[in-house]
Amino acid sequence: MSSEDQFKKIISHAKEFGFIFPNSEIYDGLSATYDYGQNGVELKNNIKKYWWLSMVQMNENIVGLDSAIFMHPSTWKASGHVDAFNDPLIDNKDSKKRYRADVLIEDHIAKIEGKIEKDIKKARKRFGDAFNETEFRSTNSNVLRRLNEIDIINNKMKAAFEDNNLEAIHDLIVELNIVCPVSGSKNWTEVRQFNLMFATELGSVAGDASTIYLRPETAQGIFVNYLNVQKTGRKKIPFGIAQIGKAFRNEIIARQFIFRMREFEQMEMQFFIQPGTQKKWYEHWKDNRMKWHKSLGFNDDELRFHDHIKLAHYADAAADIEFKFPFGFKELEGIHSRTDFDLKQHEAHSKKKLRYFDPESNENYVPYVVETSIGLDRMFLALFSNALNEEKLEDGTYRVVLNIPAPLAPIKVAVLPLVKKDGLPEKAREIMNLLKIEHQCHYEEKDSIGKRYRRQDAIGTPFCITIDHDTLEDNAVTIRERDTMKQERVSISELEAIINEKVNIKNLFI
Ligand code: ATP
Repeated sequence: MSSEDQFKKIISHAKEFGFIFPNSEIYDGLSATYDYGQNGVELKNNIKKYWWLSMVQMNENIVGLDSAIFMHPSTWKASGHVDAFNDPLIDNKDSKKRYRADVLIEDHIAKIEGKIEKDIKKARKRFGDAFNETEFRSTNSNVLRRLNEIDIINNKMKAAFEDNNLEAIHDLIVELNIVCPVSGSKNWTEVRQFNLMFATELGSVAGDASTIYLRPETAQGIFVNYLNVQKTGRKKIPFGIAQIGKAFRNEIIARQFIFRMREFEQMEMQFFIQPGTQKKWYEHWKDNRMKWHKSLGFNDDELRFHDHIKLAHYADAAADIEFKFPFGFKELEGIHSRTDFDLKQHEAHSKKKLRYFDPESNENYVPYVVETSIGLDRMFLALFSNALNEEKLEDGTYRVVLNIPAPLAPIKVAVLPLVKKDGLPEKAREIMNLLKIEHQCHYEEKDSIGKRYRRQDAIGTPFCITIDHDTLEDNAVTIRERDTMKQERVSISELEAIINEKVNIKNLFI
């Protein structure tokens, strides 16, 4: 199946099984905005729970925060968002489609990388076990030529962005012969900057109203509360503040489903450190965050680091953790060494001191910050697309199964009476009551048991419990496991312990 077809399948499965709906669908939708359905909201909440647990609960020196979406307008002046939160956009005159100029160039680089991967694949086939990829990469003339080509493009792009030279970006697109994916033409407009913040007005009386913004990131709510948390929490550096919340960006190209939305959710953590220690902490958080992703069962070849070439205005080092989405490797999380840029800017604009007095060194300084910033919706998409599988069964039929890690599954247990008579529903309700205080459970008595199993497979329910006539005699039920489809007869008295053990979020930490 082509990756495009695979992606379409993911989108339609998400809708059909109540994970994600297009927003305002009855009015034909609102572009790049989505709603999470009955199963989607559970999965999303579970991802949040795991992140919060790993970040806040498991780290003594990280605390949480929930700051408002609206902030004083000076916040965004200080942070640089009013002046510099821009995307360079370019239009194709024939298709009238708008693109981010840097993304067009990065996609071009990805194509060259794809060719390198192809060469490697071919060589691996040819040389078999004797193949040494590192040696091949450093000696093969085709690969070396392509790597050099990528270097040249990256350097040109970096220089153009550093000089804010939009004409040079335009010229690079022309020089690389990049065509519009829709019209196929090279008929490009000049490159322009476009601010991504949504503006609105505060106050009901005309004239009194002043422009405020929907926050484009949650980080600034953390920065302006840095001293509140440090003082009231008696925090010593290094310490972190974590927050989960909505962010809004007027994205130019808002496509690829929930990958790029105009309203989305971020899970961010700002780690306040002593100046000069940023390299150490930057490496620490890169490593920590990669381990977190790997704990969710992704394969090694589905995740990678990508070091930024075009550094944001606040960063002295930045890397993305990229995930292999159905449309290629793309950013899932950013790890940024933000220096003291934000706190210093807020000091300058607010005229309030945002310093830390270090009792050990007797020093007074503005802390540096290393941040980890992950898009909750992108994390959802990564998990969901990775988990959706079609399996051929022994009898030649297929089943669609969502192999989501059990602790994150929207529904942990489906309780299924074999028939809806003879006292089986009543017994099933007893089991529901036993389990539902701890776990999200689902009760269903319609359709054949086979059909009910398939529906639960499709939403990723790790356990189905079937109540049959024997249950009334022996107080035992059949428990079926999603991934192996193995069925086991267990006593009702053991059920709670079995389920608690298997869906425990602790399992993800092992
Ligand atoms: P991109 O380069 O893809 O636009 P970014 O570098 O601007 O992303 P950051 O500002 O670093 O993104 O935001 C942190 C995280 O927030 C990203 O890693 C991503 O997971 C998420 N994110 C950013 N923009 C969006 C969006 N429009 N829709 C969904 N998630 C987003």
